[in-house]
Amino acid sequence: MSGAREDPAFNVPEGLGGQVAITSLDRIYNWGRRNSVWPMMFGLACCAIEMICVAASRYDFARFGMEVMRPSPRQSDLMIVSGTVTKKMIPQIVRLYNQMPEPKYVLAMGACASGGGPFKEGYNVVSGVDKFIPVDVYVPGCPPTPQALLNGLITLQKKIDKQSIRKVRWYKKEASEPIPIPVLGPDLVDLRDLPIINKDAVEMEAAEDPVTSQENNL
Ligand code: SF4
Repeated sequence: MSGAREDPAFNVPEGLGGQVAITSLDRIYNWGRRNSVWPMMFGLACCAIEMICVAASRYDFARFGMEVMRPSPRQSDLMIVSGTVTKKMIPQIVRLYNQMPEPKYVLAMGACASGGGPFKEGYNVVSGVDKFIPVDVYVPGCPPTPQALLNGLITLQKKIDKQSIRKVRWYKKEASEPIPIPVLGPDLVDLRDLPIINKDAVEMEAAEDPVTSQENNL
């Protein structure tokens, strides 16, 4: 955009200097995406109230092109995980994440979403949504102030600014695999941990009943 008239490599004809803009593909691509990030419209707990404040007139994230909160994952670029992530809720969160098209981002808002928060030791709480889905930005606080969430959104914009169209995962040839949806039974099971769980179960069985285990192994 700037410097075209000064840089002879661009060879802008005389007289068109004020009307021709030169930039990189990455910059124009990221400029469009960073200013139209559509968050998904859902909240989990008290942090969601602060998120709602950011959407309202006083803080107004429409200034960032983010005001179109979408009630469908199919139309969302950003998942703001605003609140306590319970074991009952995480299968739905992972399913929604899988249903979001690329490019997609996740912001963990508050202590609960980032690491379990005050309920970390609770029997029913996941100690951080990043145990299941990749998080791009963490916003600390309990709850974070609206200003803190705005700062997190600006941090996300800076992250988008640094991405390159040649390296982003959504243009790679290999299709990205969906994250296995955790199963909630007596406790939460992450299906990616099944090989470890099965191995532990075999070892426990062997420790409890070595004779039967030896016979089974013969
Ligand atoms: S971090 Fe604090 S304010 Fe946010 S959901 Fe957890 S307990 Fe509520």
